[in-house]
Amino acid sequence: MHRISLSNTEFEGKNSAYLLDDGNETILIDTGLFSPKIHLEFQQELSNYGCSTSDIDIILLTHWHADHVGLAGTIQEESGAKVYCHAKDSPLVQKDPSALHELLNLAEKRFEEWRIPPSKLDPLIDVLKLGHKLGGPPPHITNFNDGDQIESENYTFSVFHLPGHTLGLSCFIPTETNLAFVGDAVLPVYTPNIGGADLRVTSSLSQYRDGLLRLRNQNLDIFYPGHRHEILTPTTRINEILQHHRNRLEQIISLLTNPTDIWDLSTRIFGPLDGIHTLYGSGEIFAHLEYLESMKIVDSSDGLYSLTSLNPDVHSIF
Ligand SMILES: [Zn+2]
Repeated sequence: MHRISLSNTEFEGKNSAYLLDDGNETILIDTGLFSPKIHLEFQQELSNYGCSTSDIDIILLTHWHADHVGLAGTIQEESGAKVYCHAKDSPLVQKDPSALHELLNLAEKRFEEWRIPPSKLDPLIDVLKLGHKLGGPPPHITNFNDGDQIESENYTFSVFHLPGHTLGLSCFIPTETNLAFVGDAVLPVYTPNIGGADLRVTSSLSQYRDGLLRLRNQNLDIFYPGHRHEILTPTTRINEILQHHRNRLEQIISLLTNPTDIWDLSTRIFGPLDGIHTLYGSGEIFAHLEYLESMKIVDSSDGLYSLTSLNPDVHSIF
């Protein structure tokens, strides 16, 4: 198995795609952004392993983001590869007009509810448009769902659905191994964004937490994430991510001394936010407030959030 490291100056840093090649079958997990430069990088990486894009038989996509799927359509055209994606994410990879329309409508609604200043919206929409472009020509997709087995001649992968970062985000566990390709479900350096990275996800913090706990129970030895290097202590990393969210809940509670809106909390916590960080920062705050509201610790009215009790105990709810 080889990691293919691809440039990504737009989102989250270098992408990691993975190549499995037993000399008979070639499988790719994720691709990079759609750009001539990254396509070339990709071809050069493959040639280091005696392979070319036309050899690829199967592409497994972890989630719909452009930096993971951008080259899928191009590689499929060059190779005839079969491309797989979770049924909840594939409409966005395929650029289905009604799925894109739904996402855009949701964005407008959320940006208003979160009280993002109008001056921040144009640069944010520019980044979202760029993301759409870097998503590349859409591939034909075979859908899968949680628990499905994707079988090829020589490999079998179990699908492990872990929504949160996106609605359909899925990990792939090759059978009879102790490893998983986890996409952006678990990352080695920073915590995956929830709340902003896919506006379609509701209750993103609780869905994400439940997915992480379910993944932790698999007792795997190694994770191969969608960015940067492998994770050799998966349980420790999952615990760190859960702790990050616990800390964030506590931080938000400590700042809710007066009723306030999401944009105010976002800038107090993250400082000035621009471009895609406008969305990711306020999305993260939204995900936590939504969770606190579901736990009846926070109340919201007309975009303003307030505490329902003094000194709530985060450890008893998360
Ligand atoms: Zn992502």
